[in-house]
Amino acid sequence: METKLIKFNPDKIDSLLLQEAARVINGGGLVAFPTETVYGLGADALNPLSCAKIFEAKNRPLNDPLIVHIADKQDIFKVAGEIYKRTLGIIDEFWPGPLTLVLKKSQNIPQIVTAGLETVAVRMPDNPIALALIKEAQTPIAAPSANLFGRPSPTTAQHVFDDLKGRIDMIVDGGKTQVGVESTILDLTQTPSRILRPGGIDIEALRRLSPDIESYQGNRILSPGMFTRHYSPKARVIVVEDGNKTQPERVKDIASEFISQGYSVGIMAKDENKNHYNGDFNLKILGPEKNLALCAANLYSLLREFDKDGTQIIIAESVKEDGLGITIMDRLRKAAAKESDV
Ligand code: AMP
Ligand code: MG
Repeated sequence: METKLIKFNPDKIDSLLLQEAARVINGGGLVAFPTETVYGLGADALNPLSCAKIFEAKNRPLNDPLIVHIADKQDIFKVAGEIYKRTLGIIDEFWPGPLTLVLKKSQNIPQIVTAGLETVAVRMPDNPIALALIKEAQTPIAAPSANLFGRPSPTTAQHVFDDLKGRIDMIVDGGKTQVGVESTILDLTQTPSRILRPGGIDIEALRRLSPDIESYQGNRILSPGMFTRHYSPKARVIVVEDGNKTQPERVKDIASEFISQGYSVGIMAKDENKNHYNGDFNLKILGPEKNLALCAANLYSLLREFDKDGTQIIIAESVKEDGLGITIMDRLRKAAAKESDV
């Protein structure tokens, strides 16, 4: 299959190109498109055969359910049922945005989308191209991240191309995504409501609006399709958290050990620590710890760059687990998990 790459200007969306992309969706094909979090691999959420192609293209296990994307808050009623006032309050505050809600599924949604569950994950993305495409196609779009299963999620069209060229019909290039990590997933079908995955929303802001949401419990596996190892580059990742020595000292000790064994070593450091590093390794800066949003936006892109450079071992400094730092540390730990931890 030839993968068509088309460039969109998010500030002035070309209506002919938009129609072309929507035709692919309506014809049962796959279109990768930008959202504010990461690039999604979209198919008509109401067409089970199209959704099956998503799993095939990504090598995604069928027990890993998809997130359904809508372009109008009202469309939640087409996708989900048992929607209470509280759900509408959360939507009003956080949509469009990087918050996915797990709700009771409506009959319209095929089983393959929800991996056989009676619940469905739904969100309204905050990206003009994503919203325009969903509106033009006049159907909800099921879209997981547009990467090969297990790899870091794509934050540029090039990342999508690197993983899925020849496997999907079209890639809509709308530039680099802003948030850079996936949506926060909130399960409203359980009492108390639960965060299943930390993501682009500040969990504390969510809990201020809705205090009955359970505080985030860390790395428990709470939903199907959540794997211990995920978001992983080809290189082995080692996360260095605070200890008795300073972080740069610990990172350099580990780096020297691997370098002496002949490995090609990369270091992913915070901006504040960059002057501590010089040596025979590939240094990349995640961003300033005081700007965790910027760190999140850079994370996946840097992991993929290390792979392109042929780095074998990535030693990553930890960041403080606060706000988006919770999400960054979740992804780093999963990237660092071993095959045997799956
Ligand atoms: P992705 O779109 O690839 O970032 O991931 C979607 C994730 O959402 C899946 O891996 C699941 O863990 C989660 N998810 C989707 N649907 C449901 C659901 N009905 N219940 C719980 N979790 C879900
Ligand atoms: Mg994914």
